[in-house]
Parts: sequence; structure tokens; C-alpha cells
Amino acid sequence: MVSLSDLEEFRHEVRRWLGANCPESMRTPVLSDADYYLGGSNPEFSHPDQKRWADLMAEKGWTTPTWPSEYGGGGLTREEAAILRDEMSAIGARSPLNSFGISMLGPALLEYGNEDQKSEHLPKIVRGEITWCQGYSEPGAGSDLASLQTRAEDTGDHYLVNGQKVWTSFADKADWIFCLVRTDNSGTKHEGISFLLVEMASEGVSVRPIKLISGKSSFCETFFDNVRVPKENLVGEEGKGWEIAKYLLTHERETISGFGQDSSGRTLAEVATEEIGLGADGRLEDGVLRRDVAQLEVDLLAFAATMDRVRDEAKAGQGLGAASSIVKYCGTELNKRRFELMMSLHGERALAWEGEHCDDGEMPRAWLRTKANSIEGGTSEIQLNIVAKRVLGLPS
Ligand SMILES: Cc1cc2nc3c(=O)[nH]c(=O)nc-3n(C[C@H](O)[C@H](O)[C@H](O)COP(=O)(O)OP(=O)(O)OC[C@H]3O[C@@H](n4cnc5c(N)ncnc54)[C@H](O)[C@@H]3O)c2cc1C
Repeated sequence: MVSLSDLEEFRHEVRRWLGANCPESMRTPVLSDADYYLGGSNPEFSHPDQKRWADLMAEKGWTTPTWPSEYGGGGLTREEAAILRDEMSAIGARSPLNSFGISMLGPALLEYGNEDQKSEHLPKIVRGEITWCQGYSEPGAGSDLASLQTRAEDTGDHYLVNGQKVWTSFADKADWIFCLVRTDNSGTKHEGISFLLVEMASEGVSVRPIKLISGKSSFCETFFDNVRVPKENLVGEEGKGWEIAKYLLTHERETISGFGQDSSGRTLAEVATEEIGLGADGRLEDGVLRRDVAQLEVDLLAFAATMDRVRDEAKAGQGLGAASSIVKYCGTELNKRRFELMMSLHGERALAWEGEHCDDGEMPRAWLRTKANSIEGGTSEIQLNIVAKRVLGLPS
């Protein structure tokens, strides 16, 4: 337990360091997907300072503040990590690095990986040298994920992988993929699943991007055709991958629940004031919008308080567990409501894809993207089933 005076000292040190090191350009709102820095061996930037900012933060281990320092992480306690978050948000600092390695694979490797896997992969994730994508879904296995059919056959010193994944976000940019594969068909469908790490450059891996109505897409189909994967890339025990898969999903759901909460850098009330203006009484003139904005701001505060409580409760246990379904459901519904309101506040201008004052359609694109929040990482219906069964204890 860190004392309060130590925490105060830590806060001063963080404030000083951020003041001296966070570039001004990285203290501006994230306006589009391109403003998220994903790292990887072929990185893309919307601003040259993105890499400098990520490198400076990685040196301190603050791209992954709570990971152990032996793997390059910050080694911070939850209290210290919360202070770092607060201080970054006070100056509007962007998250330096965003990746599936940080939000999903890293926590799973810390829990289930062996020493070689941790020391090989975690430092590269911290420094953003390698990007990962997620090979869970298949054409016949989305909500019913355990029905997956991609096969990994043990041929002695390696596995031979054959099959297809779908909706693999950023597979065309990723260096590695973490995959669920079937190593045994003899038991129930949750048995015989294994968790495998595959290099995308391996012979026999191919990727086909999927186009979307919004004109932009990170989706891909990923195919495995006789891909040789070394046995040391198996995480955990062969056939026991379902437990790792579920653990990783709780982290994915927690991450998705927070999507878009602060990306504009302004509260809805500030956007409303700017876009619509205030009446003579100092309030938004449109009563319906005024009520909706106030209600959403209150609900966002309640959600933040619930997240704090759930994280505190999780401290003593095994992570968020089934509570991640509550925060995923509530967080994504709030995010959808937030963007619906943003569209209303911007009026007909919000629908423009081209022409003056339309930012290349970023607003309608971001709004359309939120529609996927209640599907990705497990749909809202599936989260409600989990809450009913595992949180409320209702019968199936
Ligand atoms: C933006 C986005 C990014 C994604 N990125 C990735 C990725 O990187 N890697 C990856 O592996 N996957 C990814 N996915 C896939 C995602 O995990 C699946 O879309 C999701 O799990 C739902 O599966 P499905 O699309 O096959 O829908 P289905 O399972 O076919 O479901 C269709 C509908 O039926 C409902 N339904 C199904 N079963 C039940 C049930 N038992 N009770 C009640 N309702 C039910 C669902 O809720 C849904 O409304 C992504 C999806 C999106 C939208």
C-alpha cells in the first residue's frame, strides 16, 4: 500500500514529466481513427510526433502502466496508474499507443503465458514494435464462438493450421495474430480448443480486406492454408484454450466499454453550447436537446462511478470476470447515445460526406462506427445472457 504523501509526490513528478515531455501536438483531441497510433513494423502516422510521444512514454513503461517492469511495463499500482490517467487527462494528452497487444493479448500472456513467451512478446508490445490482431470469429462461429473449426494438427515439432477467420480487424497491418484453433474434436465443443500465436508473415497466411458501407474499414478475412506454427507458440495447455479465450474477452469487453468516451476532448454540454448557442437565460433553447444532454452527462458520471466500483471489487479477485459484461453493455449503449446526440447537435451538417465544413465525413463515419460497439467483442444480447446467468444467477 503506497502512502498518501508518496502518492502526492508521485503526482507532482508525473505532472512535471508530462509538462516537459508531452508534445503540444499530442495534447489535442483525437479527431479520427488515424489519430490513434497503433505501432507495428509498418507504422502509420497522422502526425510525426505520434511516434516520439509513444517512444517517450514506452521508455517509462507508461504505455502499459501497471505491467511489471521486468517486461518493460511501468510497474505502477492501480492508484499510481489512476494518477497518471488523471494528469494526462488534465492536459488533454492522447493515449500514446493503442493496440490489441496492450488491451487483450498482454493481460492474457501475463496470466497464462510461460516465461519465454512473456519475455519475447511483452516488451515488444510495450514499445509498440509489433502489432497483433485477434483471430477469434469464423464464418460459422461468432456468438457461438466455441463452434470454431480452424484446425491445428500436431505433426511433431509444429502444428499445421488450416481454416478461416473473419472480421479480423487490422489483420492487413498486423505482424502477429492470436488465434483460437481446434486441436481435438472428441469432447464437448468447449474442449479441444487451443490458443496459438501465429506470425502473419508465415507461409500460407493470407488476408483479404472487407469493404464497408462507410467507405473505410479495418475488417479483413484471414485464411490459413497449411501454415506451420512452432509448438512453442501454444499458450497454456493444449486443448484448454477456452479458459484463456474467456479471460481475454473480459479485457476486450472492458476496453470496448470505454470507447469514445473522451475522444472529442469536449463534453456534450460544451459541444451543444458551441453548436446551438445559449438563450437569454443562459440555457440551451431547445428543451428536448437540453434534457437529453443533461441526462447523458448524468448517466456518464454514474457509469464512471460504476467502473470505479467494479475495478475496486476486481482488485482482490481474478479481474473483472462476468462484471465485464455489465460494463460492456452499459458503456457501448452510452457511446451510441452520445454519438446520436452529437449528430443531432451538428444538425444537417452532420450528414455531409463532402463539401465545405464536413471534415471528410468524420462525424457520420464515427457515428456509423458506434453501431458496431454493441456487436464487437460479443453482442449486447450475449452480454445480457451472461449477466442473467452469471451475475444474477437466473436459470438458462
Ligand atoms: C467492429 C467489429 C470488430 C470486430 N473485430 C474482430 C476481431 O478483430 N477479431 C475477431 O475474431 N472478431 C471480431 N469481430 C467479430 C465479433 O466478435 C462478432 O461479430 C460477434 O461476436 C458476433 O458474432 P456474429 O457477427 O457471428 O453474429 P451472430 O452470432 O450470427 O449473431 C447474430 C445475432 O443473433 C444474436 N444471437 C446469437 N446467439 C444468441 C443467443 N444465444 N441469445 C440471444 N441472441 C443471440 C446476436 O446477439 C446477434 O444480434 C468484430 C466485430 C465488429 C462488429
